[in-house]
Amino acid sequence: TETGGDPTDEPVLELSGVVKRFGTETAVSGVDLAVNEGELLTLLGPSGCGKTTTLRTIAGLEQPTEGVVRVRGEVVAGEGQFVPPEQRNVGMVFQEFALFPHLSVAENIAFGLTEMDAAATDERVAELLDLVGLSDYGDRSPADLSGGQRQRVALARSLAPEPDVLLLDEPFSNLDVRLRVEMREEVRRIIKAAGVTAISVTHDQEEALSISDRVAVMHDGTIEQVAAPGELFEHPESRFVASFIGRASFLAARVEGETIETAIGTFPRSLLKGLSDEYVGADVDVLVRPDDLRATATTEAEALGRVVERRYTGPSFVYHVELGDGQVVHCLHNHAENFEVGDYVGVELGADHTLAWYPAR
Ligand code: ATP
Repeated sequence: TETGGDPTDEPVLELSGVVKRFGTETAVSGVDLAVNEGELLTLLGPSGCGKTTTLRTIAGLEQPTEGVVRVRGEVVAGEGQFVPPEQRNVGMVFQEFALFPHLSVAENIAFGLTEMDAAATDERVAELLDLVGLSDYGDRSPADLSGGQRQRVALARSLAPEPDVLLLDEPFSNLDVRLRVEMREEVRRIIKAAGVTAISVTHDQEEALSISDRVAVMHDGTIEQVAAPGELFEHPESRFVASFIGRASFLAARVEGETIETAIGTFPRSLLKGLSDEYVGADVDVLVRPDDLRATATTEAEALGRVVERRYTGPSFVYHVELGDGQVVHCLHNHAENFEVGDYVGVELGADHTLAWYPAR
């Protein structure tokens, strides 16, 4: 490549200062991102944060207003260049899978293999059918497949031409809830088996954390943090990332000397990760996840708060408890007791690790 250096060290995909404006609307306001060979990275963020626009810019379906996109070191957009989508060697799996209804499963998969002879095409199609677990389905029509099977075909079709980068736009949104969880594992398995570099887009944090090697959290057109799922959960670098990942709530605290005062009690200052002396006397918001707090039975007179919502989250409940001063925190279900909305409860801090915190707003 023109950039020289060892190609194996080079990110497969690189975005530098990418901005995309639509008229006066700024959809992407400065994205820098490098995705490594074989990595599965997810763009995660709320609706309107610019995820889809970023993905479409990588695909070549949008032209960036500013900035540069490189695939394997070659500029595909920016610096006066624009390589059209079909010449980028970037594959895309669309939300609705977009299979050709009049073609068989095998013909769908063979669709992008225009430069191969018939024998090579058959071999490649067989390989992909095997990879996605549909070896006996080549002759079927897409109409006769389940949602999960259609997704497998869409993946196989995109992987067939061996793209440098595979893009997946909200890949699970068209599947029913039960299938979604099953297909997450399956899609990750297939992507890893193919060894392809992949970027997916979702607003579902659980999905992002469960399938990705790294997650890029987007907010207002920029990436706030890129990290492995565990790192993102344990060390959120911004209040936005903290609040977007893992049912967070914030507990207001005042730092007093060696202690912090909160609506649920006084705790040692050492509980707050890396809090320096300059915050003594200041108000901070402490990140508390449901596992860190426990609702306990108590009398109305001694209660610290009241249950305002009860959410079933698979194996247990999360209680939303309004404290005396009006702030709401999320507490994990204590298996000894069961509370209803309206119950008065005590709240205990049971964190067994230091907590992240942010300057109060
Ligand atoms: P969602 O999850 O809802 O798809 P998103 O994070 O993918 O959201 P984008 O679709 O990238 O967000 O949109 C980012 C912003 O850019 C939004 O405010 C959107 O209205 C705007 N936008 C996107 N495409 C266009 C367009 N073609 N013309 C004008 N504005 C656009």
